[in-house]
Amino acid sequence: MSDKEYPYIDLIYNQQVDNRFIIQKKSIKQRIDLLKNLEKEILLHRDEIVEALHKDFRKSKIESESTEIFPVLSEIRLFCKNLNEWSKSKSVSNNFVFFGSKAIIQIEPKGNCLIISPWNYPFQLAMMHLVACIAAGNTAILKPSEFTEHTNSVLNKILGNVFESNHVQLLYGEIDETSYILSKKFDHIHFTGSPNVGKIVMEAGAKHLSSVTLELGGKSPLVIDEAFDIKKAVSKAIWGKLINNGQTCIAPDYILIHESKEVEFVEEFKRQMEKTFGHDPKESKDLARIINTRNFNRVKDLIQNAIELGADCPYGNEYDGYELYIKPTILRNIPQEAEILKEEIFGPVFPILTYNSIENAIHYINTAEKPLALYIFSNNKELINNVTENTSSGAVMVNDLLIHIMHPNLPFGGVNNSGIGSSTGYFGFLDFSHQKPVLKVNQLFSPTKFLNYPYNAFTQKIINLMIKYL
Ligand code: NAD
Repeated sequence: MSDKEYPYIDLIYNQQVDNRFIIQKKSIKQRIDLLKNLEKEILLHRDEIVEALHKDFRKSKIESESTEIFPVLSEIRLFCKNLNEWSKSKSVSNNFVFFGSKAIIQIEPKGNCLIISPWNYPFQLAMMHLVACIAAGNTAILKPSEFTEHTNSVLNKILGNVFESNHVQLLYGEIDETSYILSKKFDHIHFTGSPNVGKIVMEAGAKHLSSVTLELGGKSPLVIDEAFDIKKAVSKAIWGKLINNGQTCIAPDYILIHESKEVEFVEEFKRQMEKTFGHDPKESKDLARIINTRNFNRVKDLIQNAIELGADCPYGNEYDGYELYIKPTILRNIPQEAEILKEEIFGPVFPILTYNSIENAIHYINTAEKPLALYIFSNNKELINNVTENTSSGAVMVNDLLIHIMHPNLPFGGVNNSGIGSSTGYFGFLDFSHQKPVLKVNQLFSPTKFLNYPYNAFTQKIINLMIKYL
């Protein structure tokens, strides 16, 4: 909790609290119009967004457009198409106790919301959840990461062009400002970031019993079956890991490969790296950089700690601190006590672990915290079911990496240490809504009529029927 006072934060907060009932009254058409304006503004600022992401961590144009701008536009379009349907009250059926009654689930906005987002997809992760939040009829204070100043400034401009500040307001700030805003009462808090900070956010939410959604991270395994095509496995692993330079919450953190295929994997990796990025991947315009010196040193230390403890490094372990560049690195024969096997890596490192039976791989996964994603490369149905049914993770994807987040009809989220609650699409809409049961009881058959005092043989009969048939 911060000791400092921030009058401008109080002002934004109070304005939104005062305005939240007016925002809730906006029609679905008005909400859709706002989303359409947001879409227009994003398209208008497309080049500026790309430029800002390049300045923040040298992200390539293709990755900025495919992983930051496109997902937000596609989310807005999904909401515009479905919001009418999603917002409708839904009738549910009755059992005989409620014969003749009308039971509906009414969707209502949660109210005043806080969204805290991380630096690794600074445009996408701020906007995606904001879209769900405003589509559901809430106000929003959006607190992006302090590490992406250029992207934040475009975000601020876009939001300022579409929303009044008593509806949506971007809040700049570091830990102090975030702690200060977290001390206030929100109807809902949506946090994306690390499990450690997730715990702080949940504790802050608990003080006011605010509902909290946590989109966290962790160590997502990639299990490669002995019979799977190694060329395909390597090509997908390189893309899935190096996109955003490994700084992706659902990046495969480590590889669990059948022991008979480890050497082939490493040789194929070196061959494909050379073919794709040439002799020096640093020269490639496609590879983003590490976000800042603190994270550069953290990832470098993880690699060096593993090597000092005896791990082999057949590729990588080269650095340029000035450019915040770490050459994609493979590590094998890693001792269990190495930090890289404990901490989420969030960088371009491929630790390779081997298994001799799939049961060992399952056991290894289950000894760690539940991951955000679990990837299986295999064409063996039995093996896929075995791994899926005997592990717990936010999501499972078979024979590909990362793209499950783009599916319009699947929830996205973690489980326990990797997250609480679901986001994106309809699930994101529900996350920012309260599903209120409304029951209109038919007076002729009202259950209380039969269950009311004085209790007698007839009441007992009714209870007996309920116990027998319901
Ligand atoms: P972080 O937890 O350090 O920061 C996230 C946000 O919390 C930032 O806005 C930051 O300003 C704020 N924050 C940091 N320390 C705080 C504190 N002590 N009190 C209050 N607020 C604080 O995370 P990060 O480094 O920005 O992002 C990387 C992490 O986010 C990784 O663990 C990654 O896996 C996770 N992540 C998860 C998802 C997902 O959708 N599940 C997506 C992206 C990133």
